[in-house]
Amino acid sequence: MKQFKLFLLSLILSFSIACQQETSTAAPPDPKADPHSSSQPNEARTTHLDLHLKGDFDKKNFSGYARWTIENKTGATEIIFDTDNIHIEKITLGKEEKPAEYFLVARDSVLGSALKVPIEPGTDLVTIYYSTGPNAPALGWMEPSMTAGKKLPFLFTQGQAILTRSWIPCQDTPANRITYTASIEVPLGMMAVMSAENPQQKSADGQYRFLMEQPIAPYLIALAVGDIAFRPVGQRTGVYAEPAMLDKVAWEFTDMEKMVTTAESLYGPYAWGRYDLIVLPTGFPFGGMENPRLTFATPTVITGDRSMVSLVAHELAHSWSGNLVTNATWNDFWLNEGFTVYFERRIMEALYGKEYTEMLAQLEYWELLDEVKTLGDTSPDTRLKVNLAGRNPDDGVGDVAYQKGSSFLVMLERLTDRTKWDEFLKSWFDTNKFQSKTTEEFLTFLQKNYLEKYGVTANVDEWVYHPGLPANYPKPNSARLANVEKAAVNVATVMPDTKDWTPHEWVHFVRNLPENTDVVTLKKLDKKFHLTTSGNAEIKCAWYEVAIRQGYSPEILPQIEYFLLNTGRRRFLMPIYTAFKEVGRVETARRIFEKAKPGYHAVSRGSVEELLK
Ligand SMILES: [Zn+2]
Repeated sequence: MKQFKLFLLSLILSFSIACQQETSTAAPPDPKADPHSSSQPNEARTTHLDLHLKGDFDKKNFSGYARWTIENKTGATEIIFDTDNIHIEKITLGKEEKPAEYFLVARDSVLGSALKVPIEPGTDLVTIYYSTGPNAPALGWMEPSMTAGKKLPFLFTQGQAILTRSWIPCQDTPANRITYTASIEVPLGMMAVMSAENPQQKSADGQYRFLMEQPIAPYLIALAVGDIAFRPVGQRTGVYAEPAMLDKVAWEFTDMEKMVTTAESLYGPYAWGRYDLIVLPTGFPFGGMENPRLTFATPTVITGDRSMVSLVAHELAHSWSGNLVTNATWNDFWLNEGFTVYFERRIMEALYGKEYTEMLAQLEYWELLDEVKTLGDTSPDTRLKVNLAGRNPDDGVGDVAYQKGSSFLVMLERLTDRTKWDEFLKSWFDTNKFQSKTTEEFLTFLQKNYLEKYGVTANVDEWVYHPGLPANYPKPNSARLANVEKAAVNVATVMPDTKDWTPHEWVHFVRNLPENTDVVTLKKLDKKFHLTTSGNAEIKCAWYEVAIRQGYSPEILPQIEYFLLNTGRRRFLMPIYTAFKEVGRVETARRIFEKAKPGYHAVSRGSVEELLK
């Protein structure tokens, strides 16, 4: 996932206080145990899903059945599934569909309800007939008004981290991998696509069949339904979007095929067949989600200037780190994200050069410093290996897993050279493909196949199990951003020379405007550079935040309101709502939020609600 950020400072703080008891250097006792699933797949486990669902856009639910092929090597007398607010009609065992008993354990606020199904020694199939509940957090139902076409509604799912259980009863732990087939029925005129082999045209009867042959973690099962069209951009790459968006999307992501080839040249063959990307309506709360074969992306990456292609590099990199070799538990999330950020930068460097990539790295490093400052550098949440037991993993992860994780790999790379390091990484992916791994398993592999092999040492434990940033943290250093900072400091006297500035430089400029920048200067800047009406959402977000904090916002309030009504991405919503709150204009924020919230995904809605309460 890209830029999955938490701006709920109060929430972070309360978590870190709650965790102070822990000794900051101890690894959790059993690294294999997943604190976010009740399912115990080490006893009876699911291996394959055959999913049959019908979508009802009026009722906003899915109903049908999930037929699970199971494996029971330990002679367990029951199999356990994770569910969350799912209405179960009946459960049957075997091909003959023998009615089964079942027990739903009382709901836990983080884990949902464990579903226990007694099984017999030879049981190989368990079929669960069910419908999804109201407000299932995995399901993003968008009204037609929230789409580009305005005619048909739209639906997308988000499984990471522990949401799949709210639309499919499953063993919802990344430690257990499954294959799947699916048959999905949707209203006529709509297309359904999944993290699987996908159609490229609408069906005449609203029926779609899917196949995912490679074993994946359940959080990677994904579905999108809407007025969707397809266009190829390369031999094995293409884009899906609403028809009104298709031209722009195809232009923005022209380089997709090149990216896949570049990634393969670094870490080995792409394992998933096609690589396509779907641009979702504005309600999608994240930047991107690496659903296998089909990346889900926010429309805010369609900037018209190709400035957000690093998002594609990131999601594509997950085809190796995350989807091919997966974190065994959410406490090992850095294995997914740290590797992915490292890999993303290598792709970007190969395609767009060192200077540009260094700039991106520098910007993200600063975001990390902010986060570490907010959390406190002794907070256990600044370790790579975290302990998220008892809380929703979505609330416990931020820049640390991404940036500190990636920098850990940069530090290791510099112990030898790129040839040796790349060879090592390639062997990590190849040796462990289609498996789920813990931090400890990686460290053992690292010790044997890299550190000992080349006779080098490193403060690995400090990096992984200690809080804060180690002294040998490799800090990026971008000359381009240093120039931008100079321009920002002098803004009251000299308008900046912005020739060849990328949107990243613009954002940095806006964020570095001196605190005493007055409304007159802001107006001058706006008149010359049209920041309020910029086509780039990152620039707009940074600019609106400054405008609110410096008292320029009353004049451009209609534009800010329009932006908040037309984006659902939490990364943009939180800084703006936070700024309103911090300058004492929480009433304005609440008024806009009331209007905007029907268009927000549950994840974004929840975060803003919490902030403004
Ligand atoms: Zn990611």
